[in-house]
Amino acid sequence: MSQLARKEQQPCIVIVGGGAGGLELATRLGRQLGAGRQARIVLVDGSPTHIWKPLLHEVATGALNTGEDEVNYFAHAYRNGYEFELGYMQTLDRQQRRIRLAPVCDEQGEQLAPERDIGYDWLVLAVGAEANDFGTPGVREHCLFLNTPADAERLRKQLLALTFRASAHPDGVQPVRVSIVGGGATGVELAAEMHHTVCELHHYGARLSPADFSLSIIEGASRILATAPEALSHYATEELQKRNIGVLANSLVQRVSADAIELADGRRVASDLCVWAAGVKAPAWLAALDGLPVNKVNQLAVDTRLQTADSRVLAIGDCAAAPDGEGGRPLAATAQVAHQQARYLARELPRRLRGESSLPFVFKPQGMMVSLGKNKAVGSLAAVVGPKRNYHVEGRSAKLIYVSLYRMHQAAVHGWLLAALLFIGDKLRGVARPTLKLH
Ligand SMILES: Cc1cc2nc3c(=O)[nH]c(=O)nc-3n(C[C@H](O)[C@H](O)[C@H](O)COP(=O)(O)OP(=O)(O)OC[C@H]3O[C@@H](n4cnc5c(N)ncnc54)[C@H](O)[C@@H]3O)c2cc1C
Repeated sequence: MSQLARKEQQPCIVIVGGGAGGLELATRLGRQLGAGRQARIVLVDGSPTHIWKPLLHEVATGALNTGEDEVNYFAHAYRNGYEFELGYMQTLDRQQRRIRLAPVCDEQGEQLAPERDIGYDWLVLAVGAEANDFGTPGVREHCLFLNTPADAERLRKQLLALTFRASAHPDGVQPVRVSIVGGGATGVELAAEMHHTVCELHHYGARLSPADFSLSIIEGASRILATAPEALSHYATEELQKRNIGVLANSLVQRVSADAIELADGRRVASDLCVWAAGVKAPAWLAALDGLPVNKVNQLAVDTRLQTADSRVLAIGDCAAAPDGEGGRPLAATAQVAHQQARYLARELPRRLRGESSLPFVFKPQGMMVSLGKNKAVGSLAAVVGPKRNYHVEGRSAKLIYVSLYRMHQAAVHGWLLAALLFIGDKLRGVARPTLKLH
């Protein structure tokens, strides 16, 4: 039998979205099924490279150089037994079991690949989420976001430009005012990292000093990290305040203009740069996906087996509303959930291919970790004492655990040996290059 005919006979699992959940799933299935030609595993992504999203605040501040940490899907697919298709998914035809990808164009708009269809036997949607502005006027026009590597790069360039402009002003150093809307993990991590960046830039010779840089976090709830235990929230608030980062709790944003944020109680927070990190929603196109039900933030409704209303279409990660097992709200949009769901499907899909009955997904909360700049973090480790109680860690030890989460993601994607080599490579590069990407 020809290789092509053999390929066509293999069942095909298509995974759309190579992020925290999708890339890990494609890797595990590729190694288990694809390499031995038991099934074709196809990963589709609109971007040719992957960067782990929880690192985006480090990309935005220049602490992490995407050129060094991103994974090229084509090379990774070749090494791990799956195929990669570049392109954004547009539509789904459940009857014909195929998806349609939009044409791929280069930066000048020249078409590189036309619109095309890909057939599947099983489809896993893992397309993530985007910023939710809750319809607040002015946000789209005047705020930056931190949802994609392109967003992070835009933010990095604007922060650098503001710093240099303020430092080089003919009338002397001018103050810079930055506001971050949203005191969840993303907003808190970004604020701490931005403060560190300004200290480093000053160290490298920028005349703007941390005292000229005013940074505020605006949060609607009564405290930052509102979903975390209160002790974590207090520790993070104190750490931010030590760095002169303002925390405006109980502050609802009503409108954003070019130079200020207007709050519902009438206060105005003057801002040269505003970052919106106040919530996420799944992409709107999921709501028109061949009749599959979604919730009010466009997440695909899935059952305890991560199946949508169509048993051949599954969804994981931020784009899925998976039951939390206690009949309450859907599981939170976190990398931890996406990772556990990817591991579950990597065990479950081979069972389904063999026609064995499936087991439900059970989420095991491991706690949470929030980075507070270069050397500190704060978090809770539910995994140590059980999901109902928390063991708190803070400071340097917490930062070590925080960093190890990324190393574990690298191990899942590259294997432990390569992850260890990457770690050593990062340490060596750290000796030779500046601590920030400055251009
Ligand atoms: C700054 C920041 C910090 C965070 N910190 C943490 C943290 O500390 N801990 C934690 O648990 N979580 C954290 N999160 C949340 C975490 O990153 C997400 O929950 C996680 O990445 C979700 O994984 P996913 O696989 O669902 O989607 P993503 O990782 O977002 O991946 C989605 C992928 O789908 C692709 N895609 C999108 N649309 C299409 C399409 N139409 N066709 C093809 N491909 C498509 C995208 O290119 C992307 O590669 C953070 C998020 C941010 C932004």
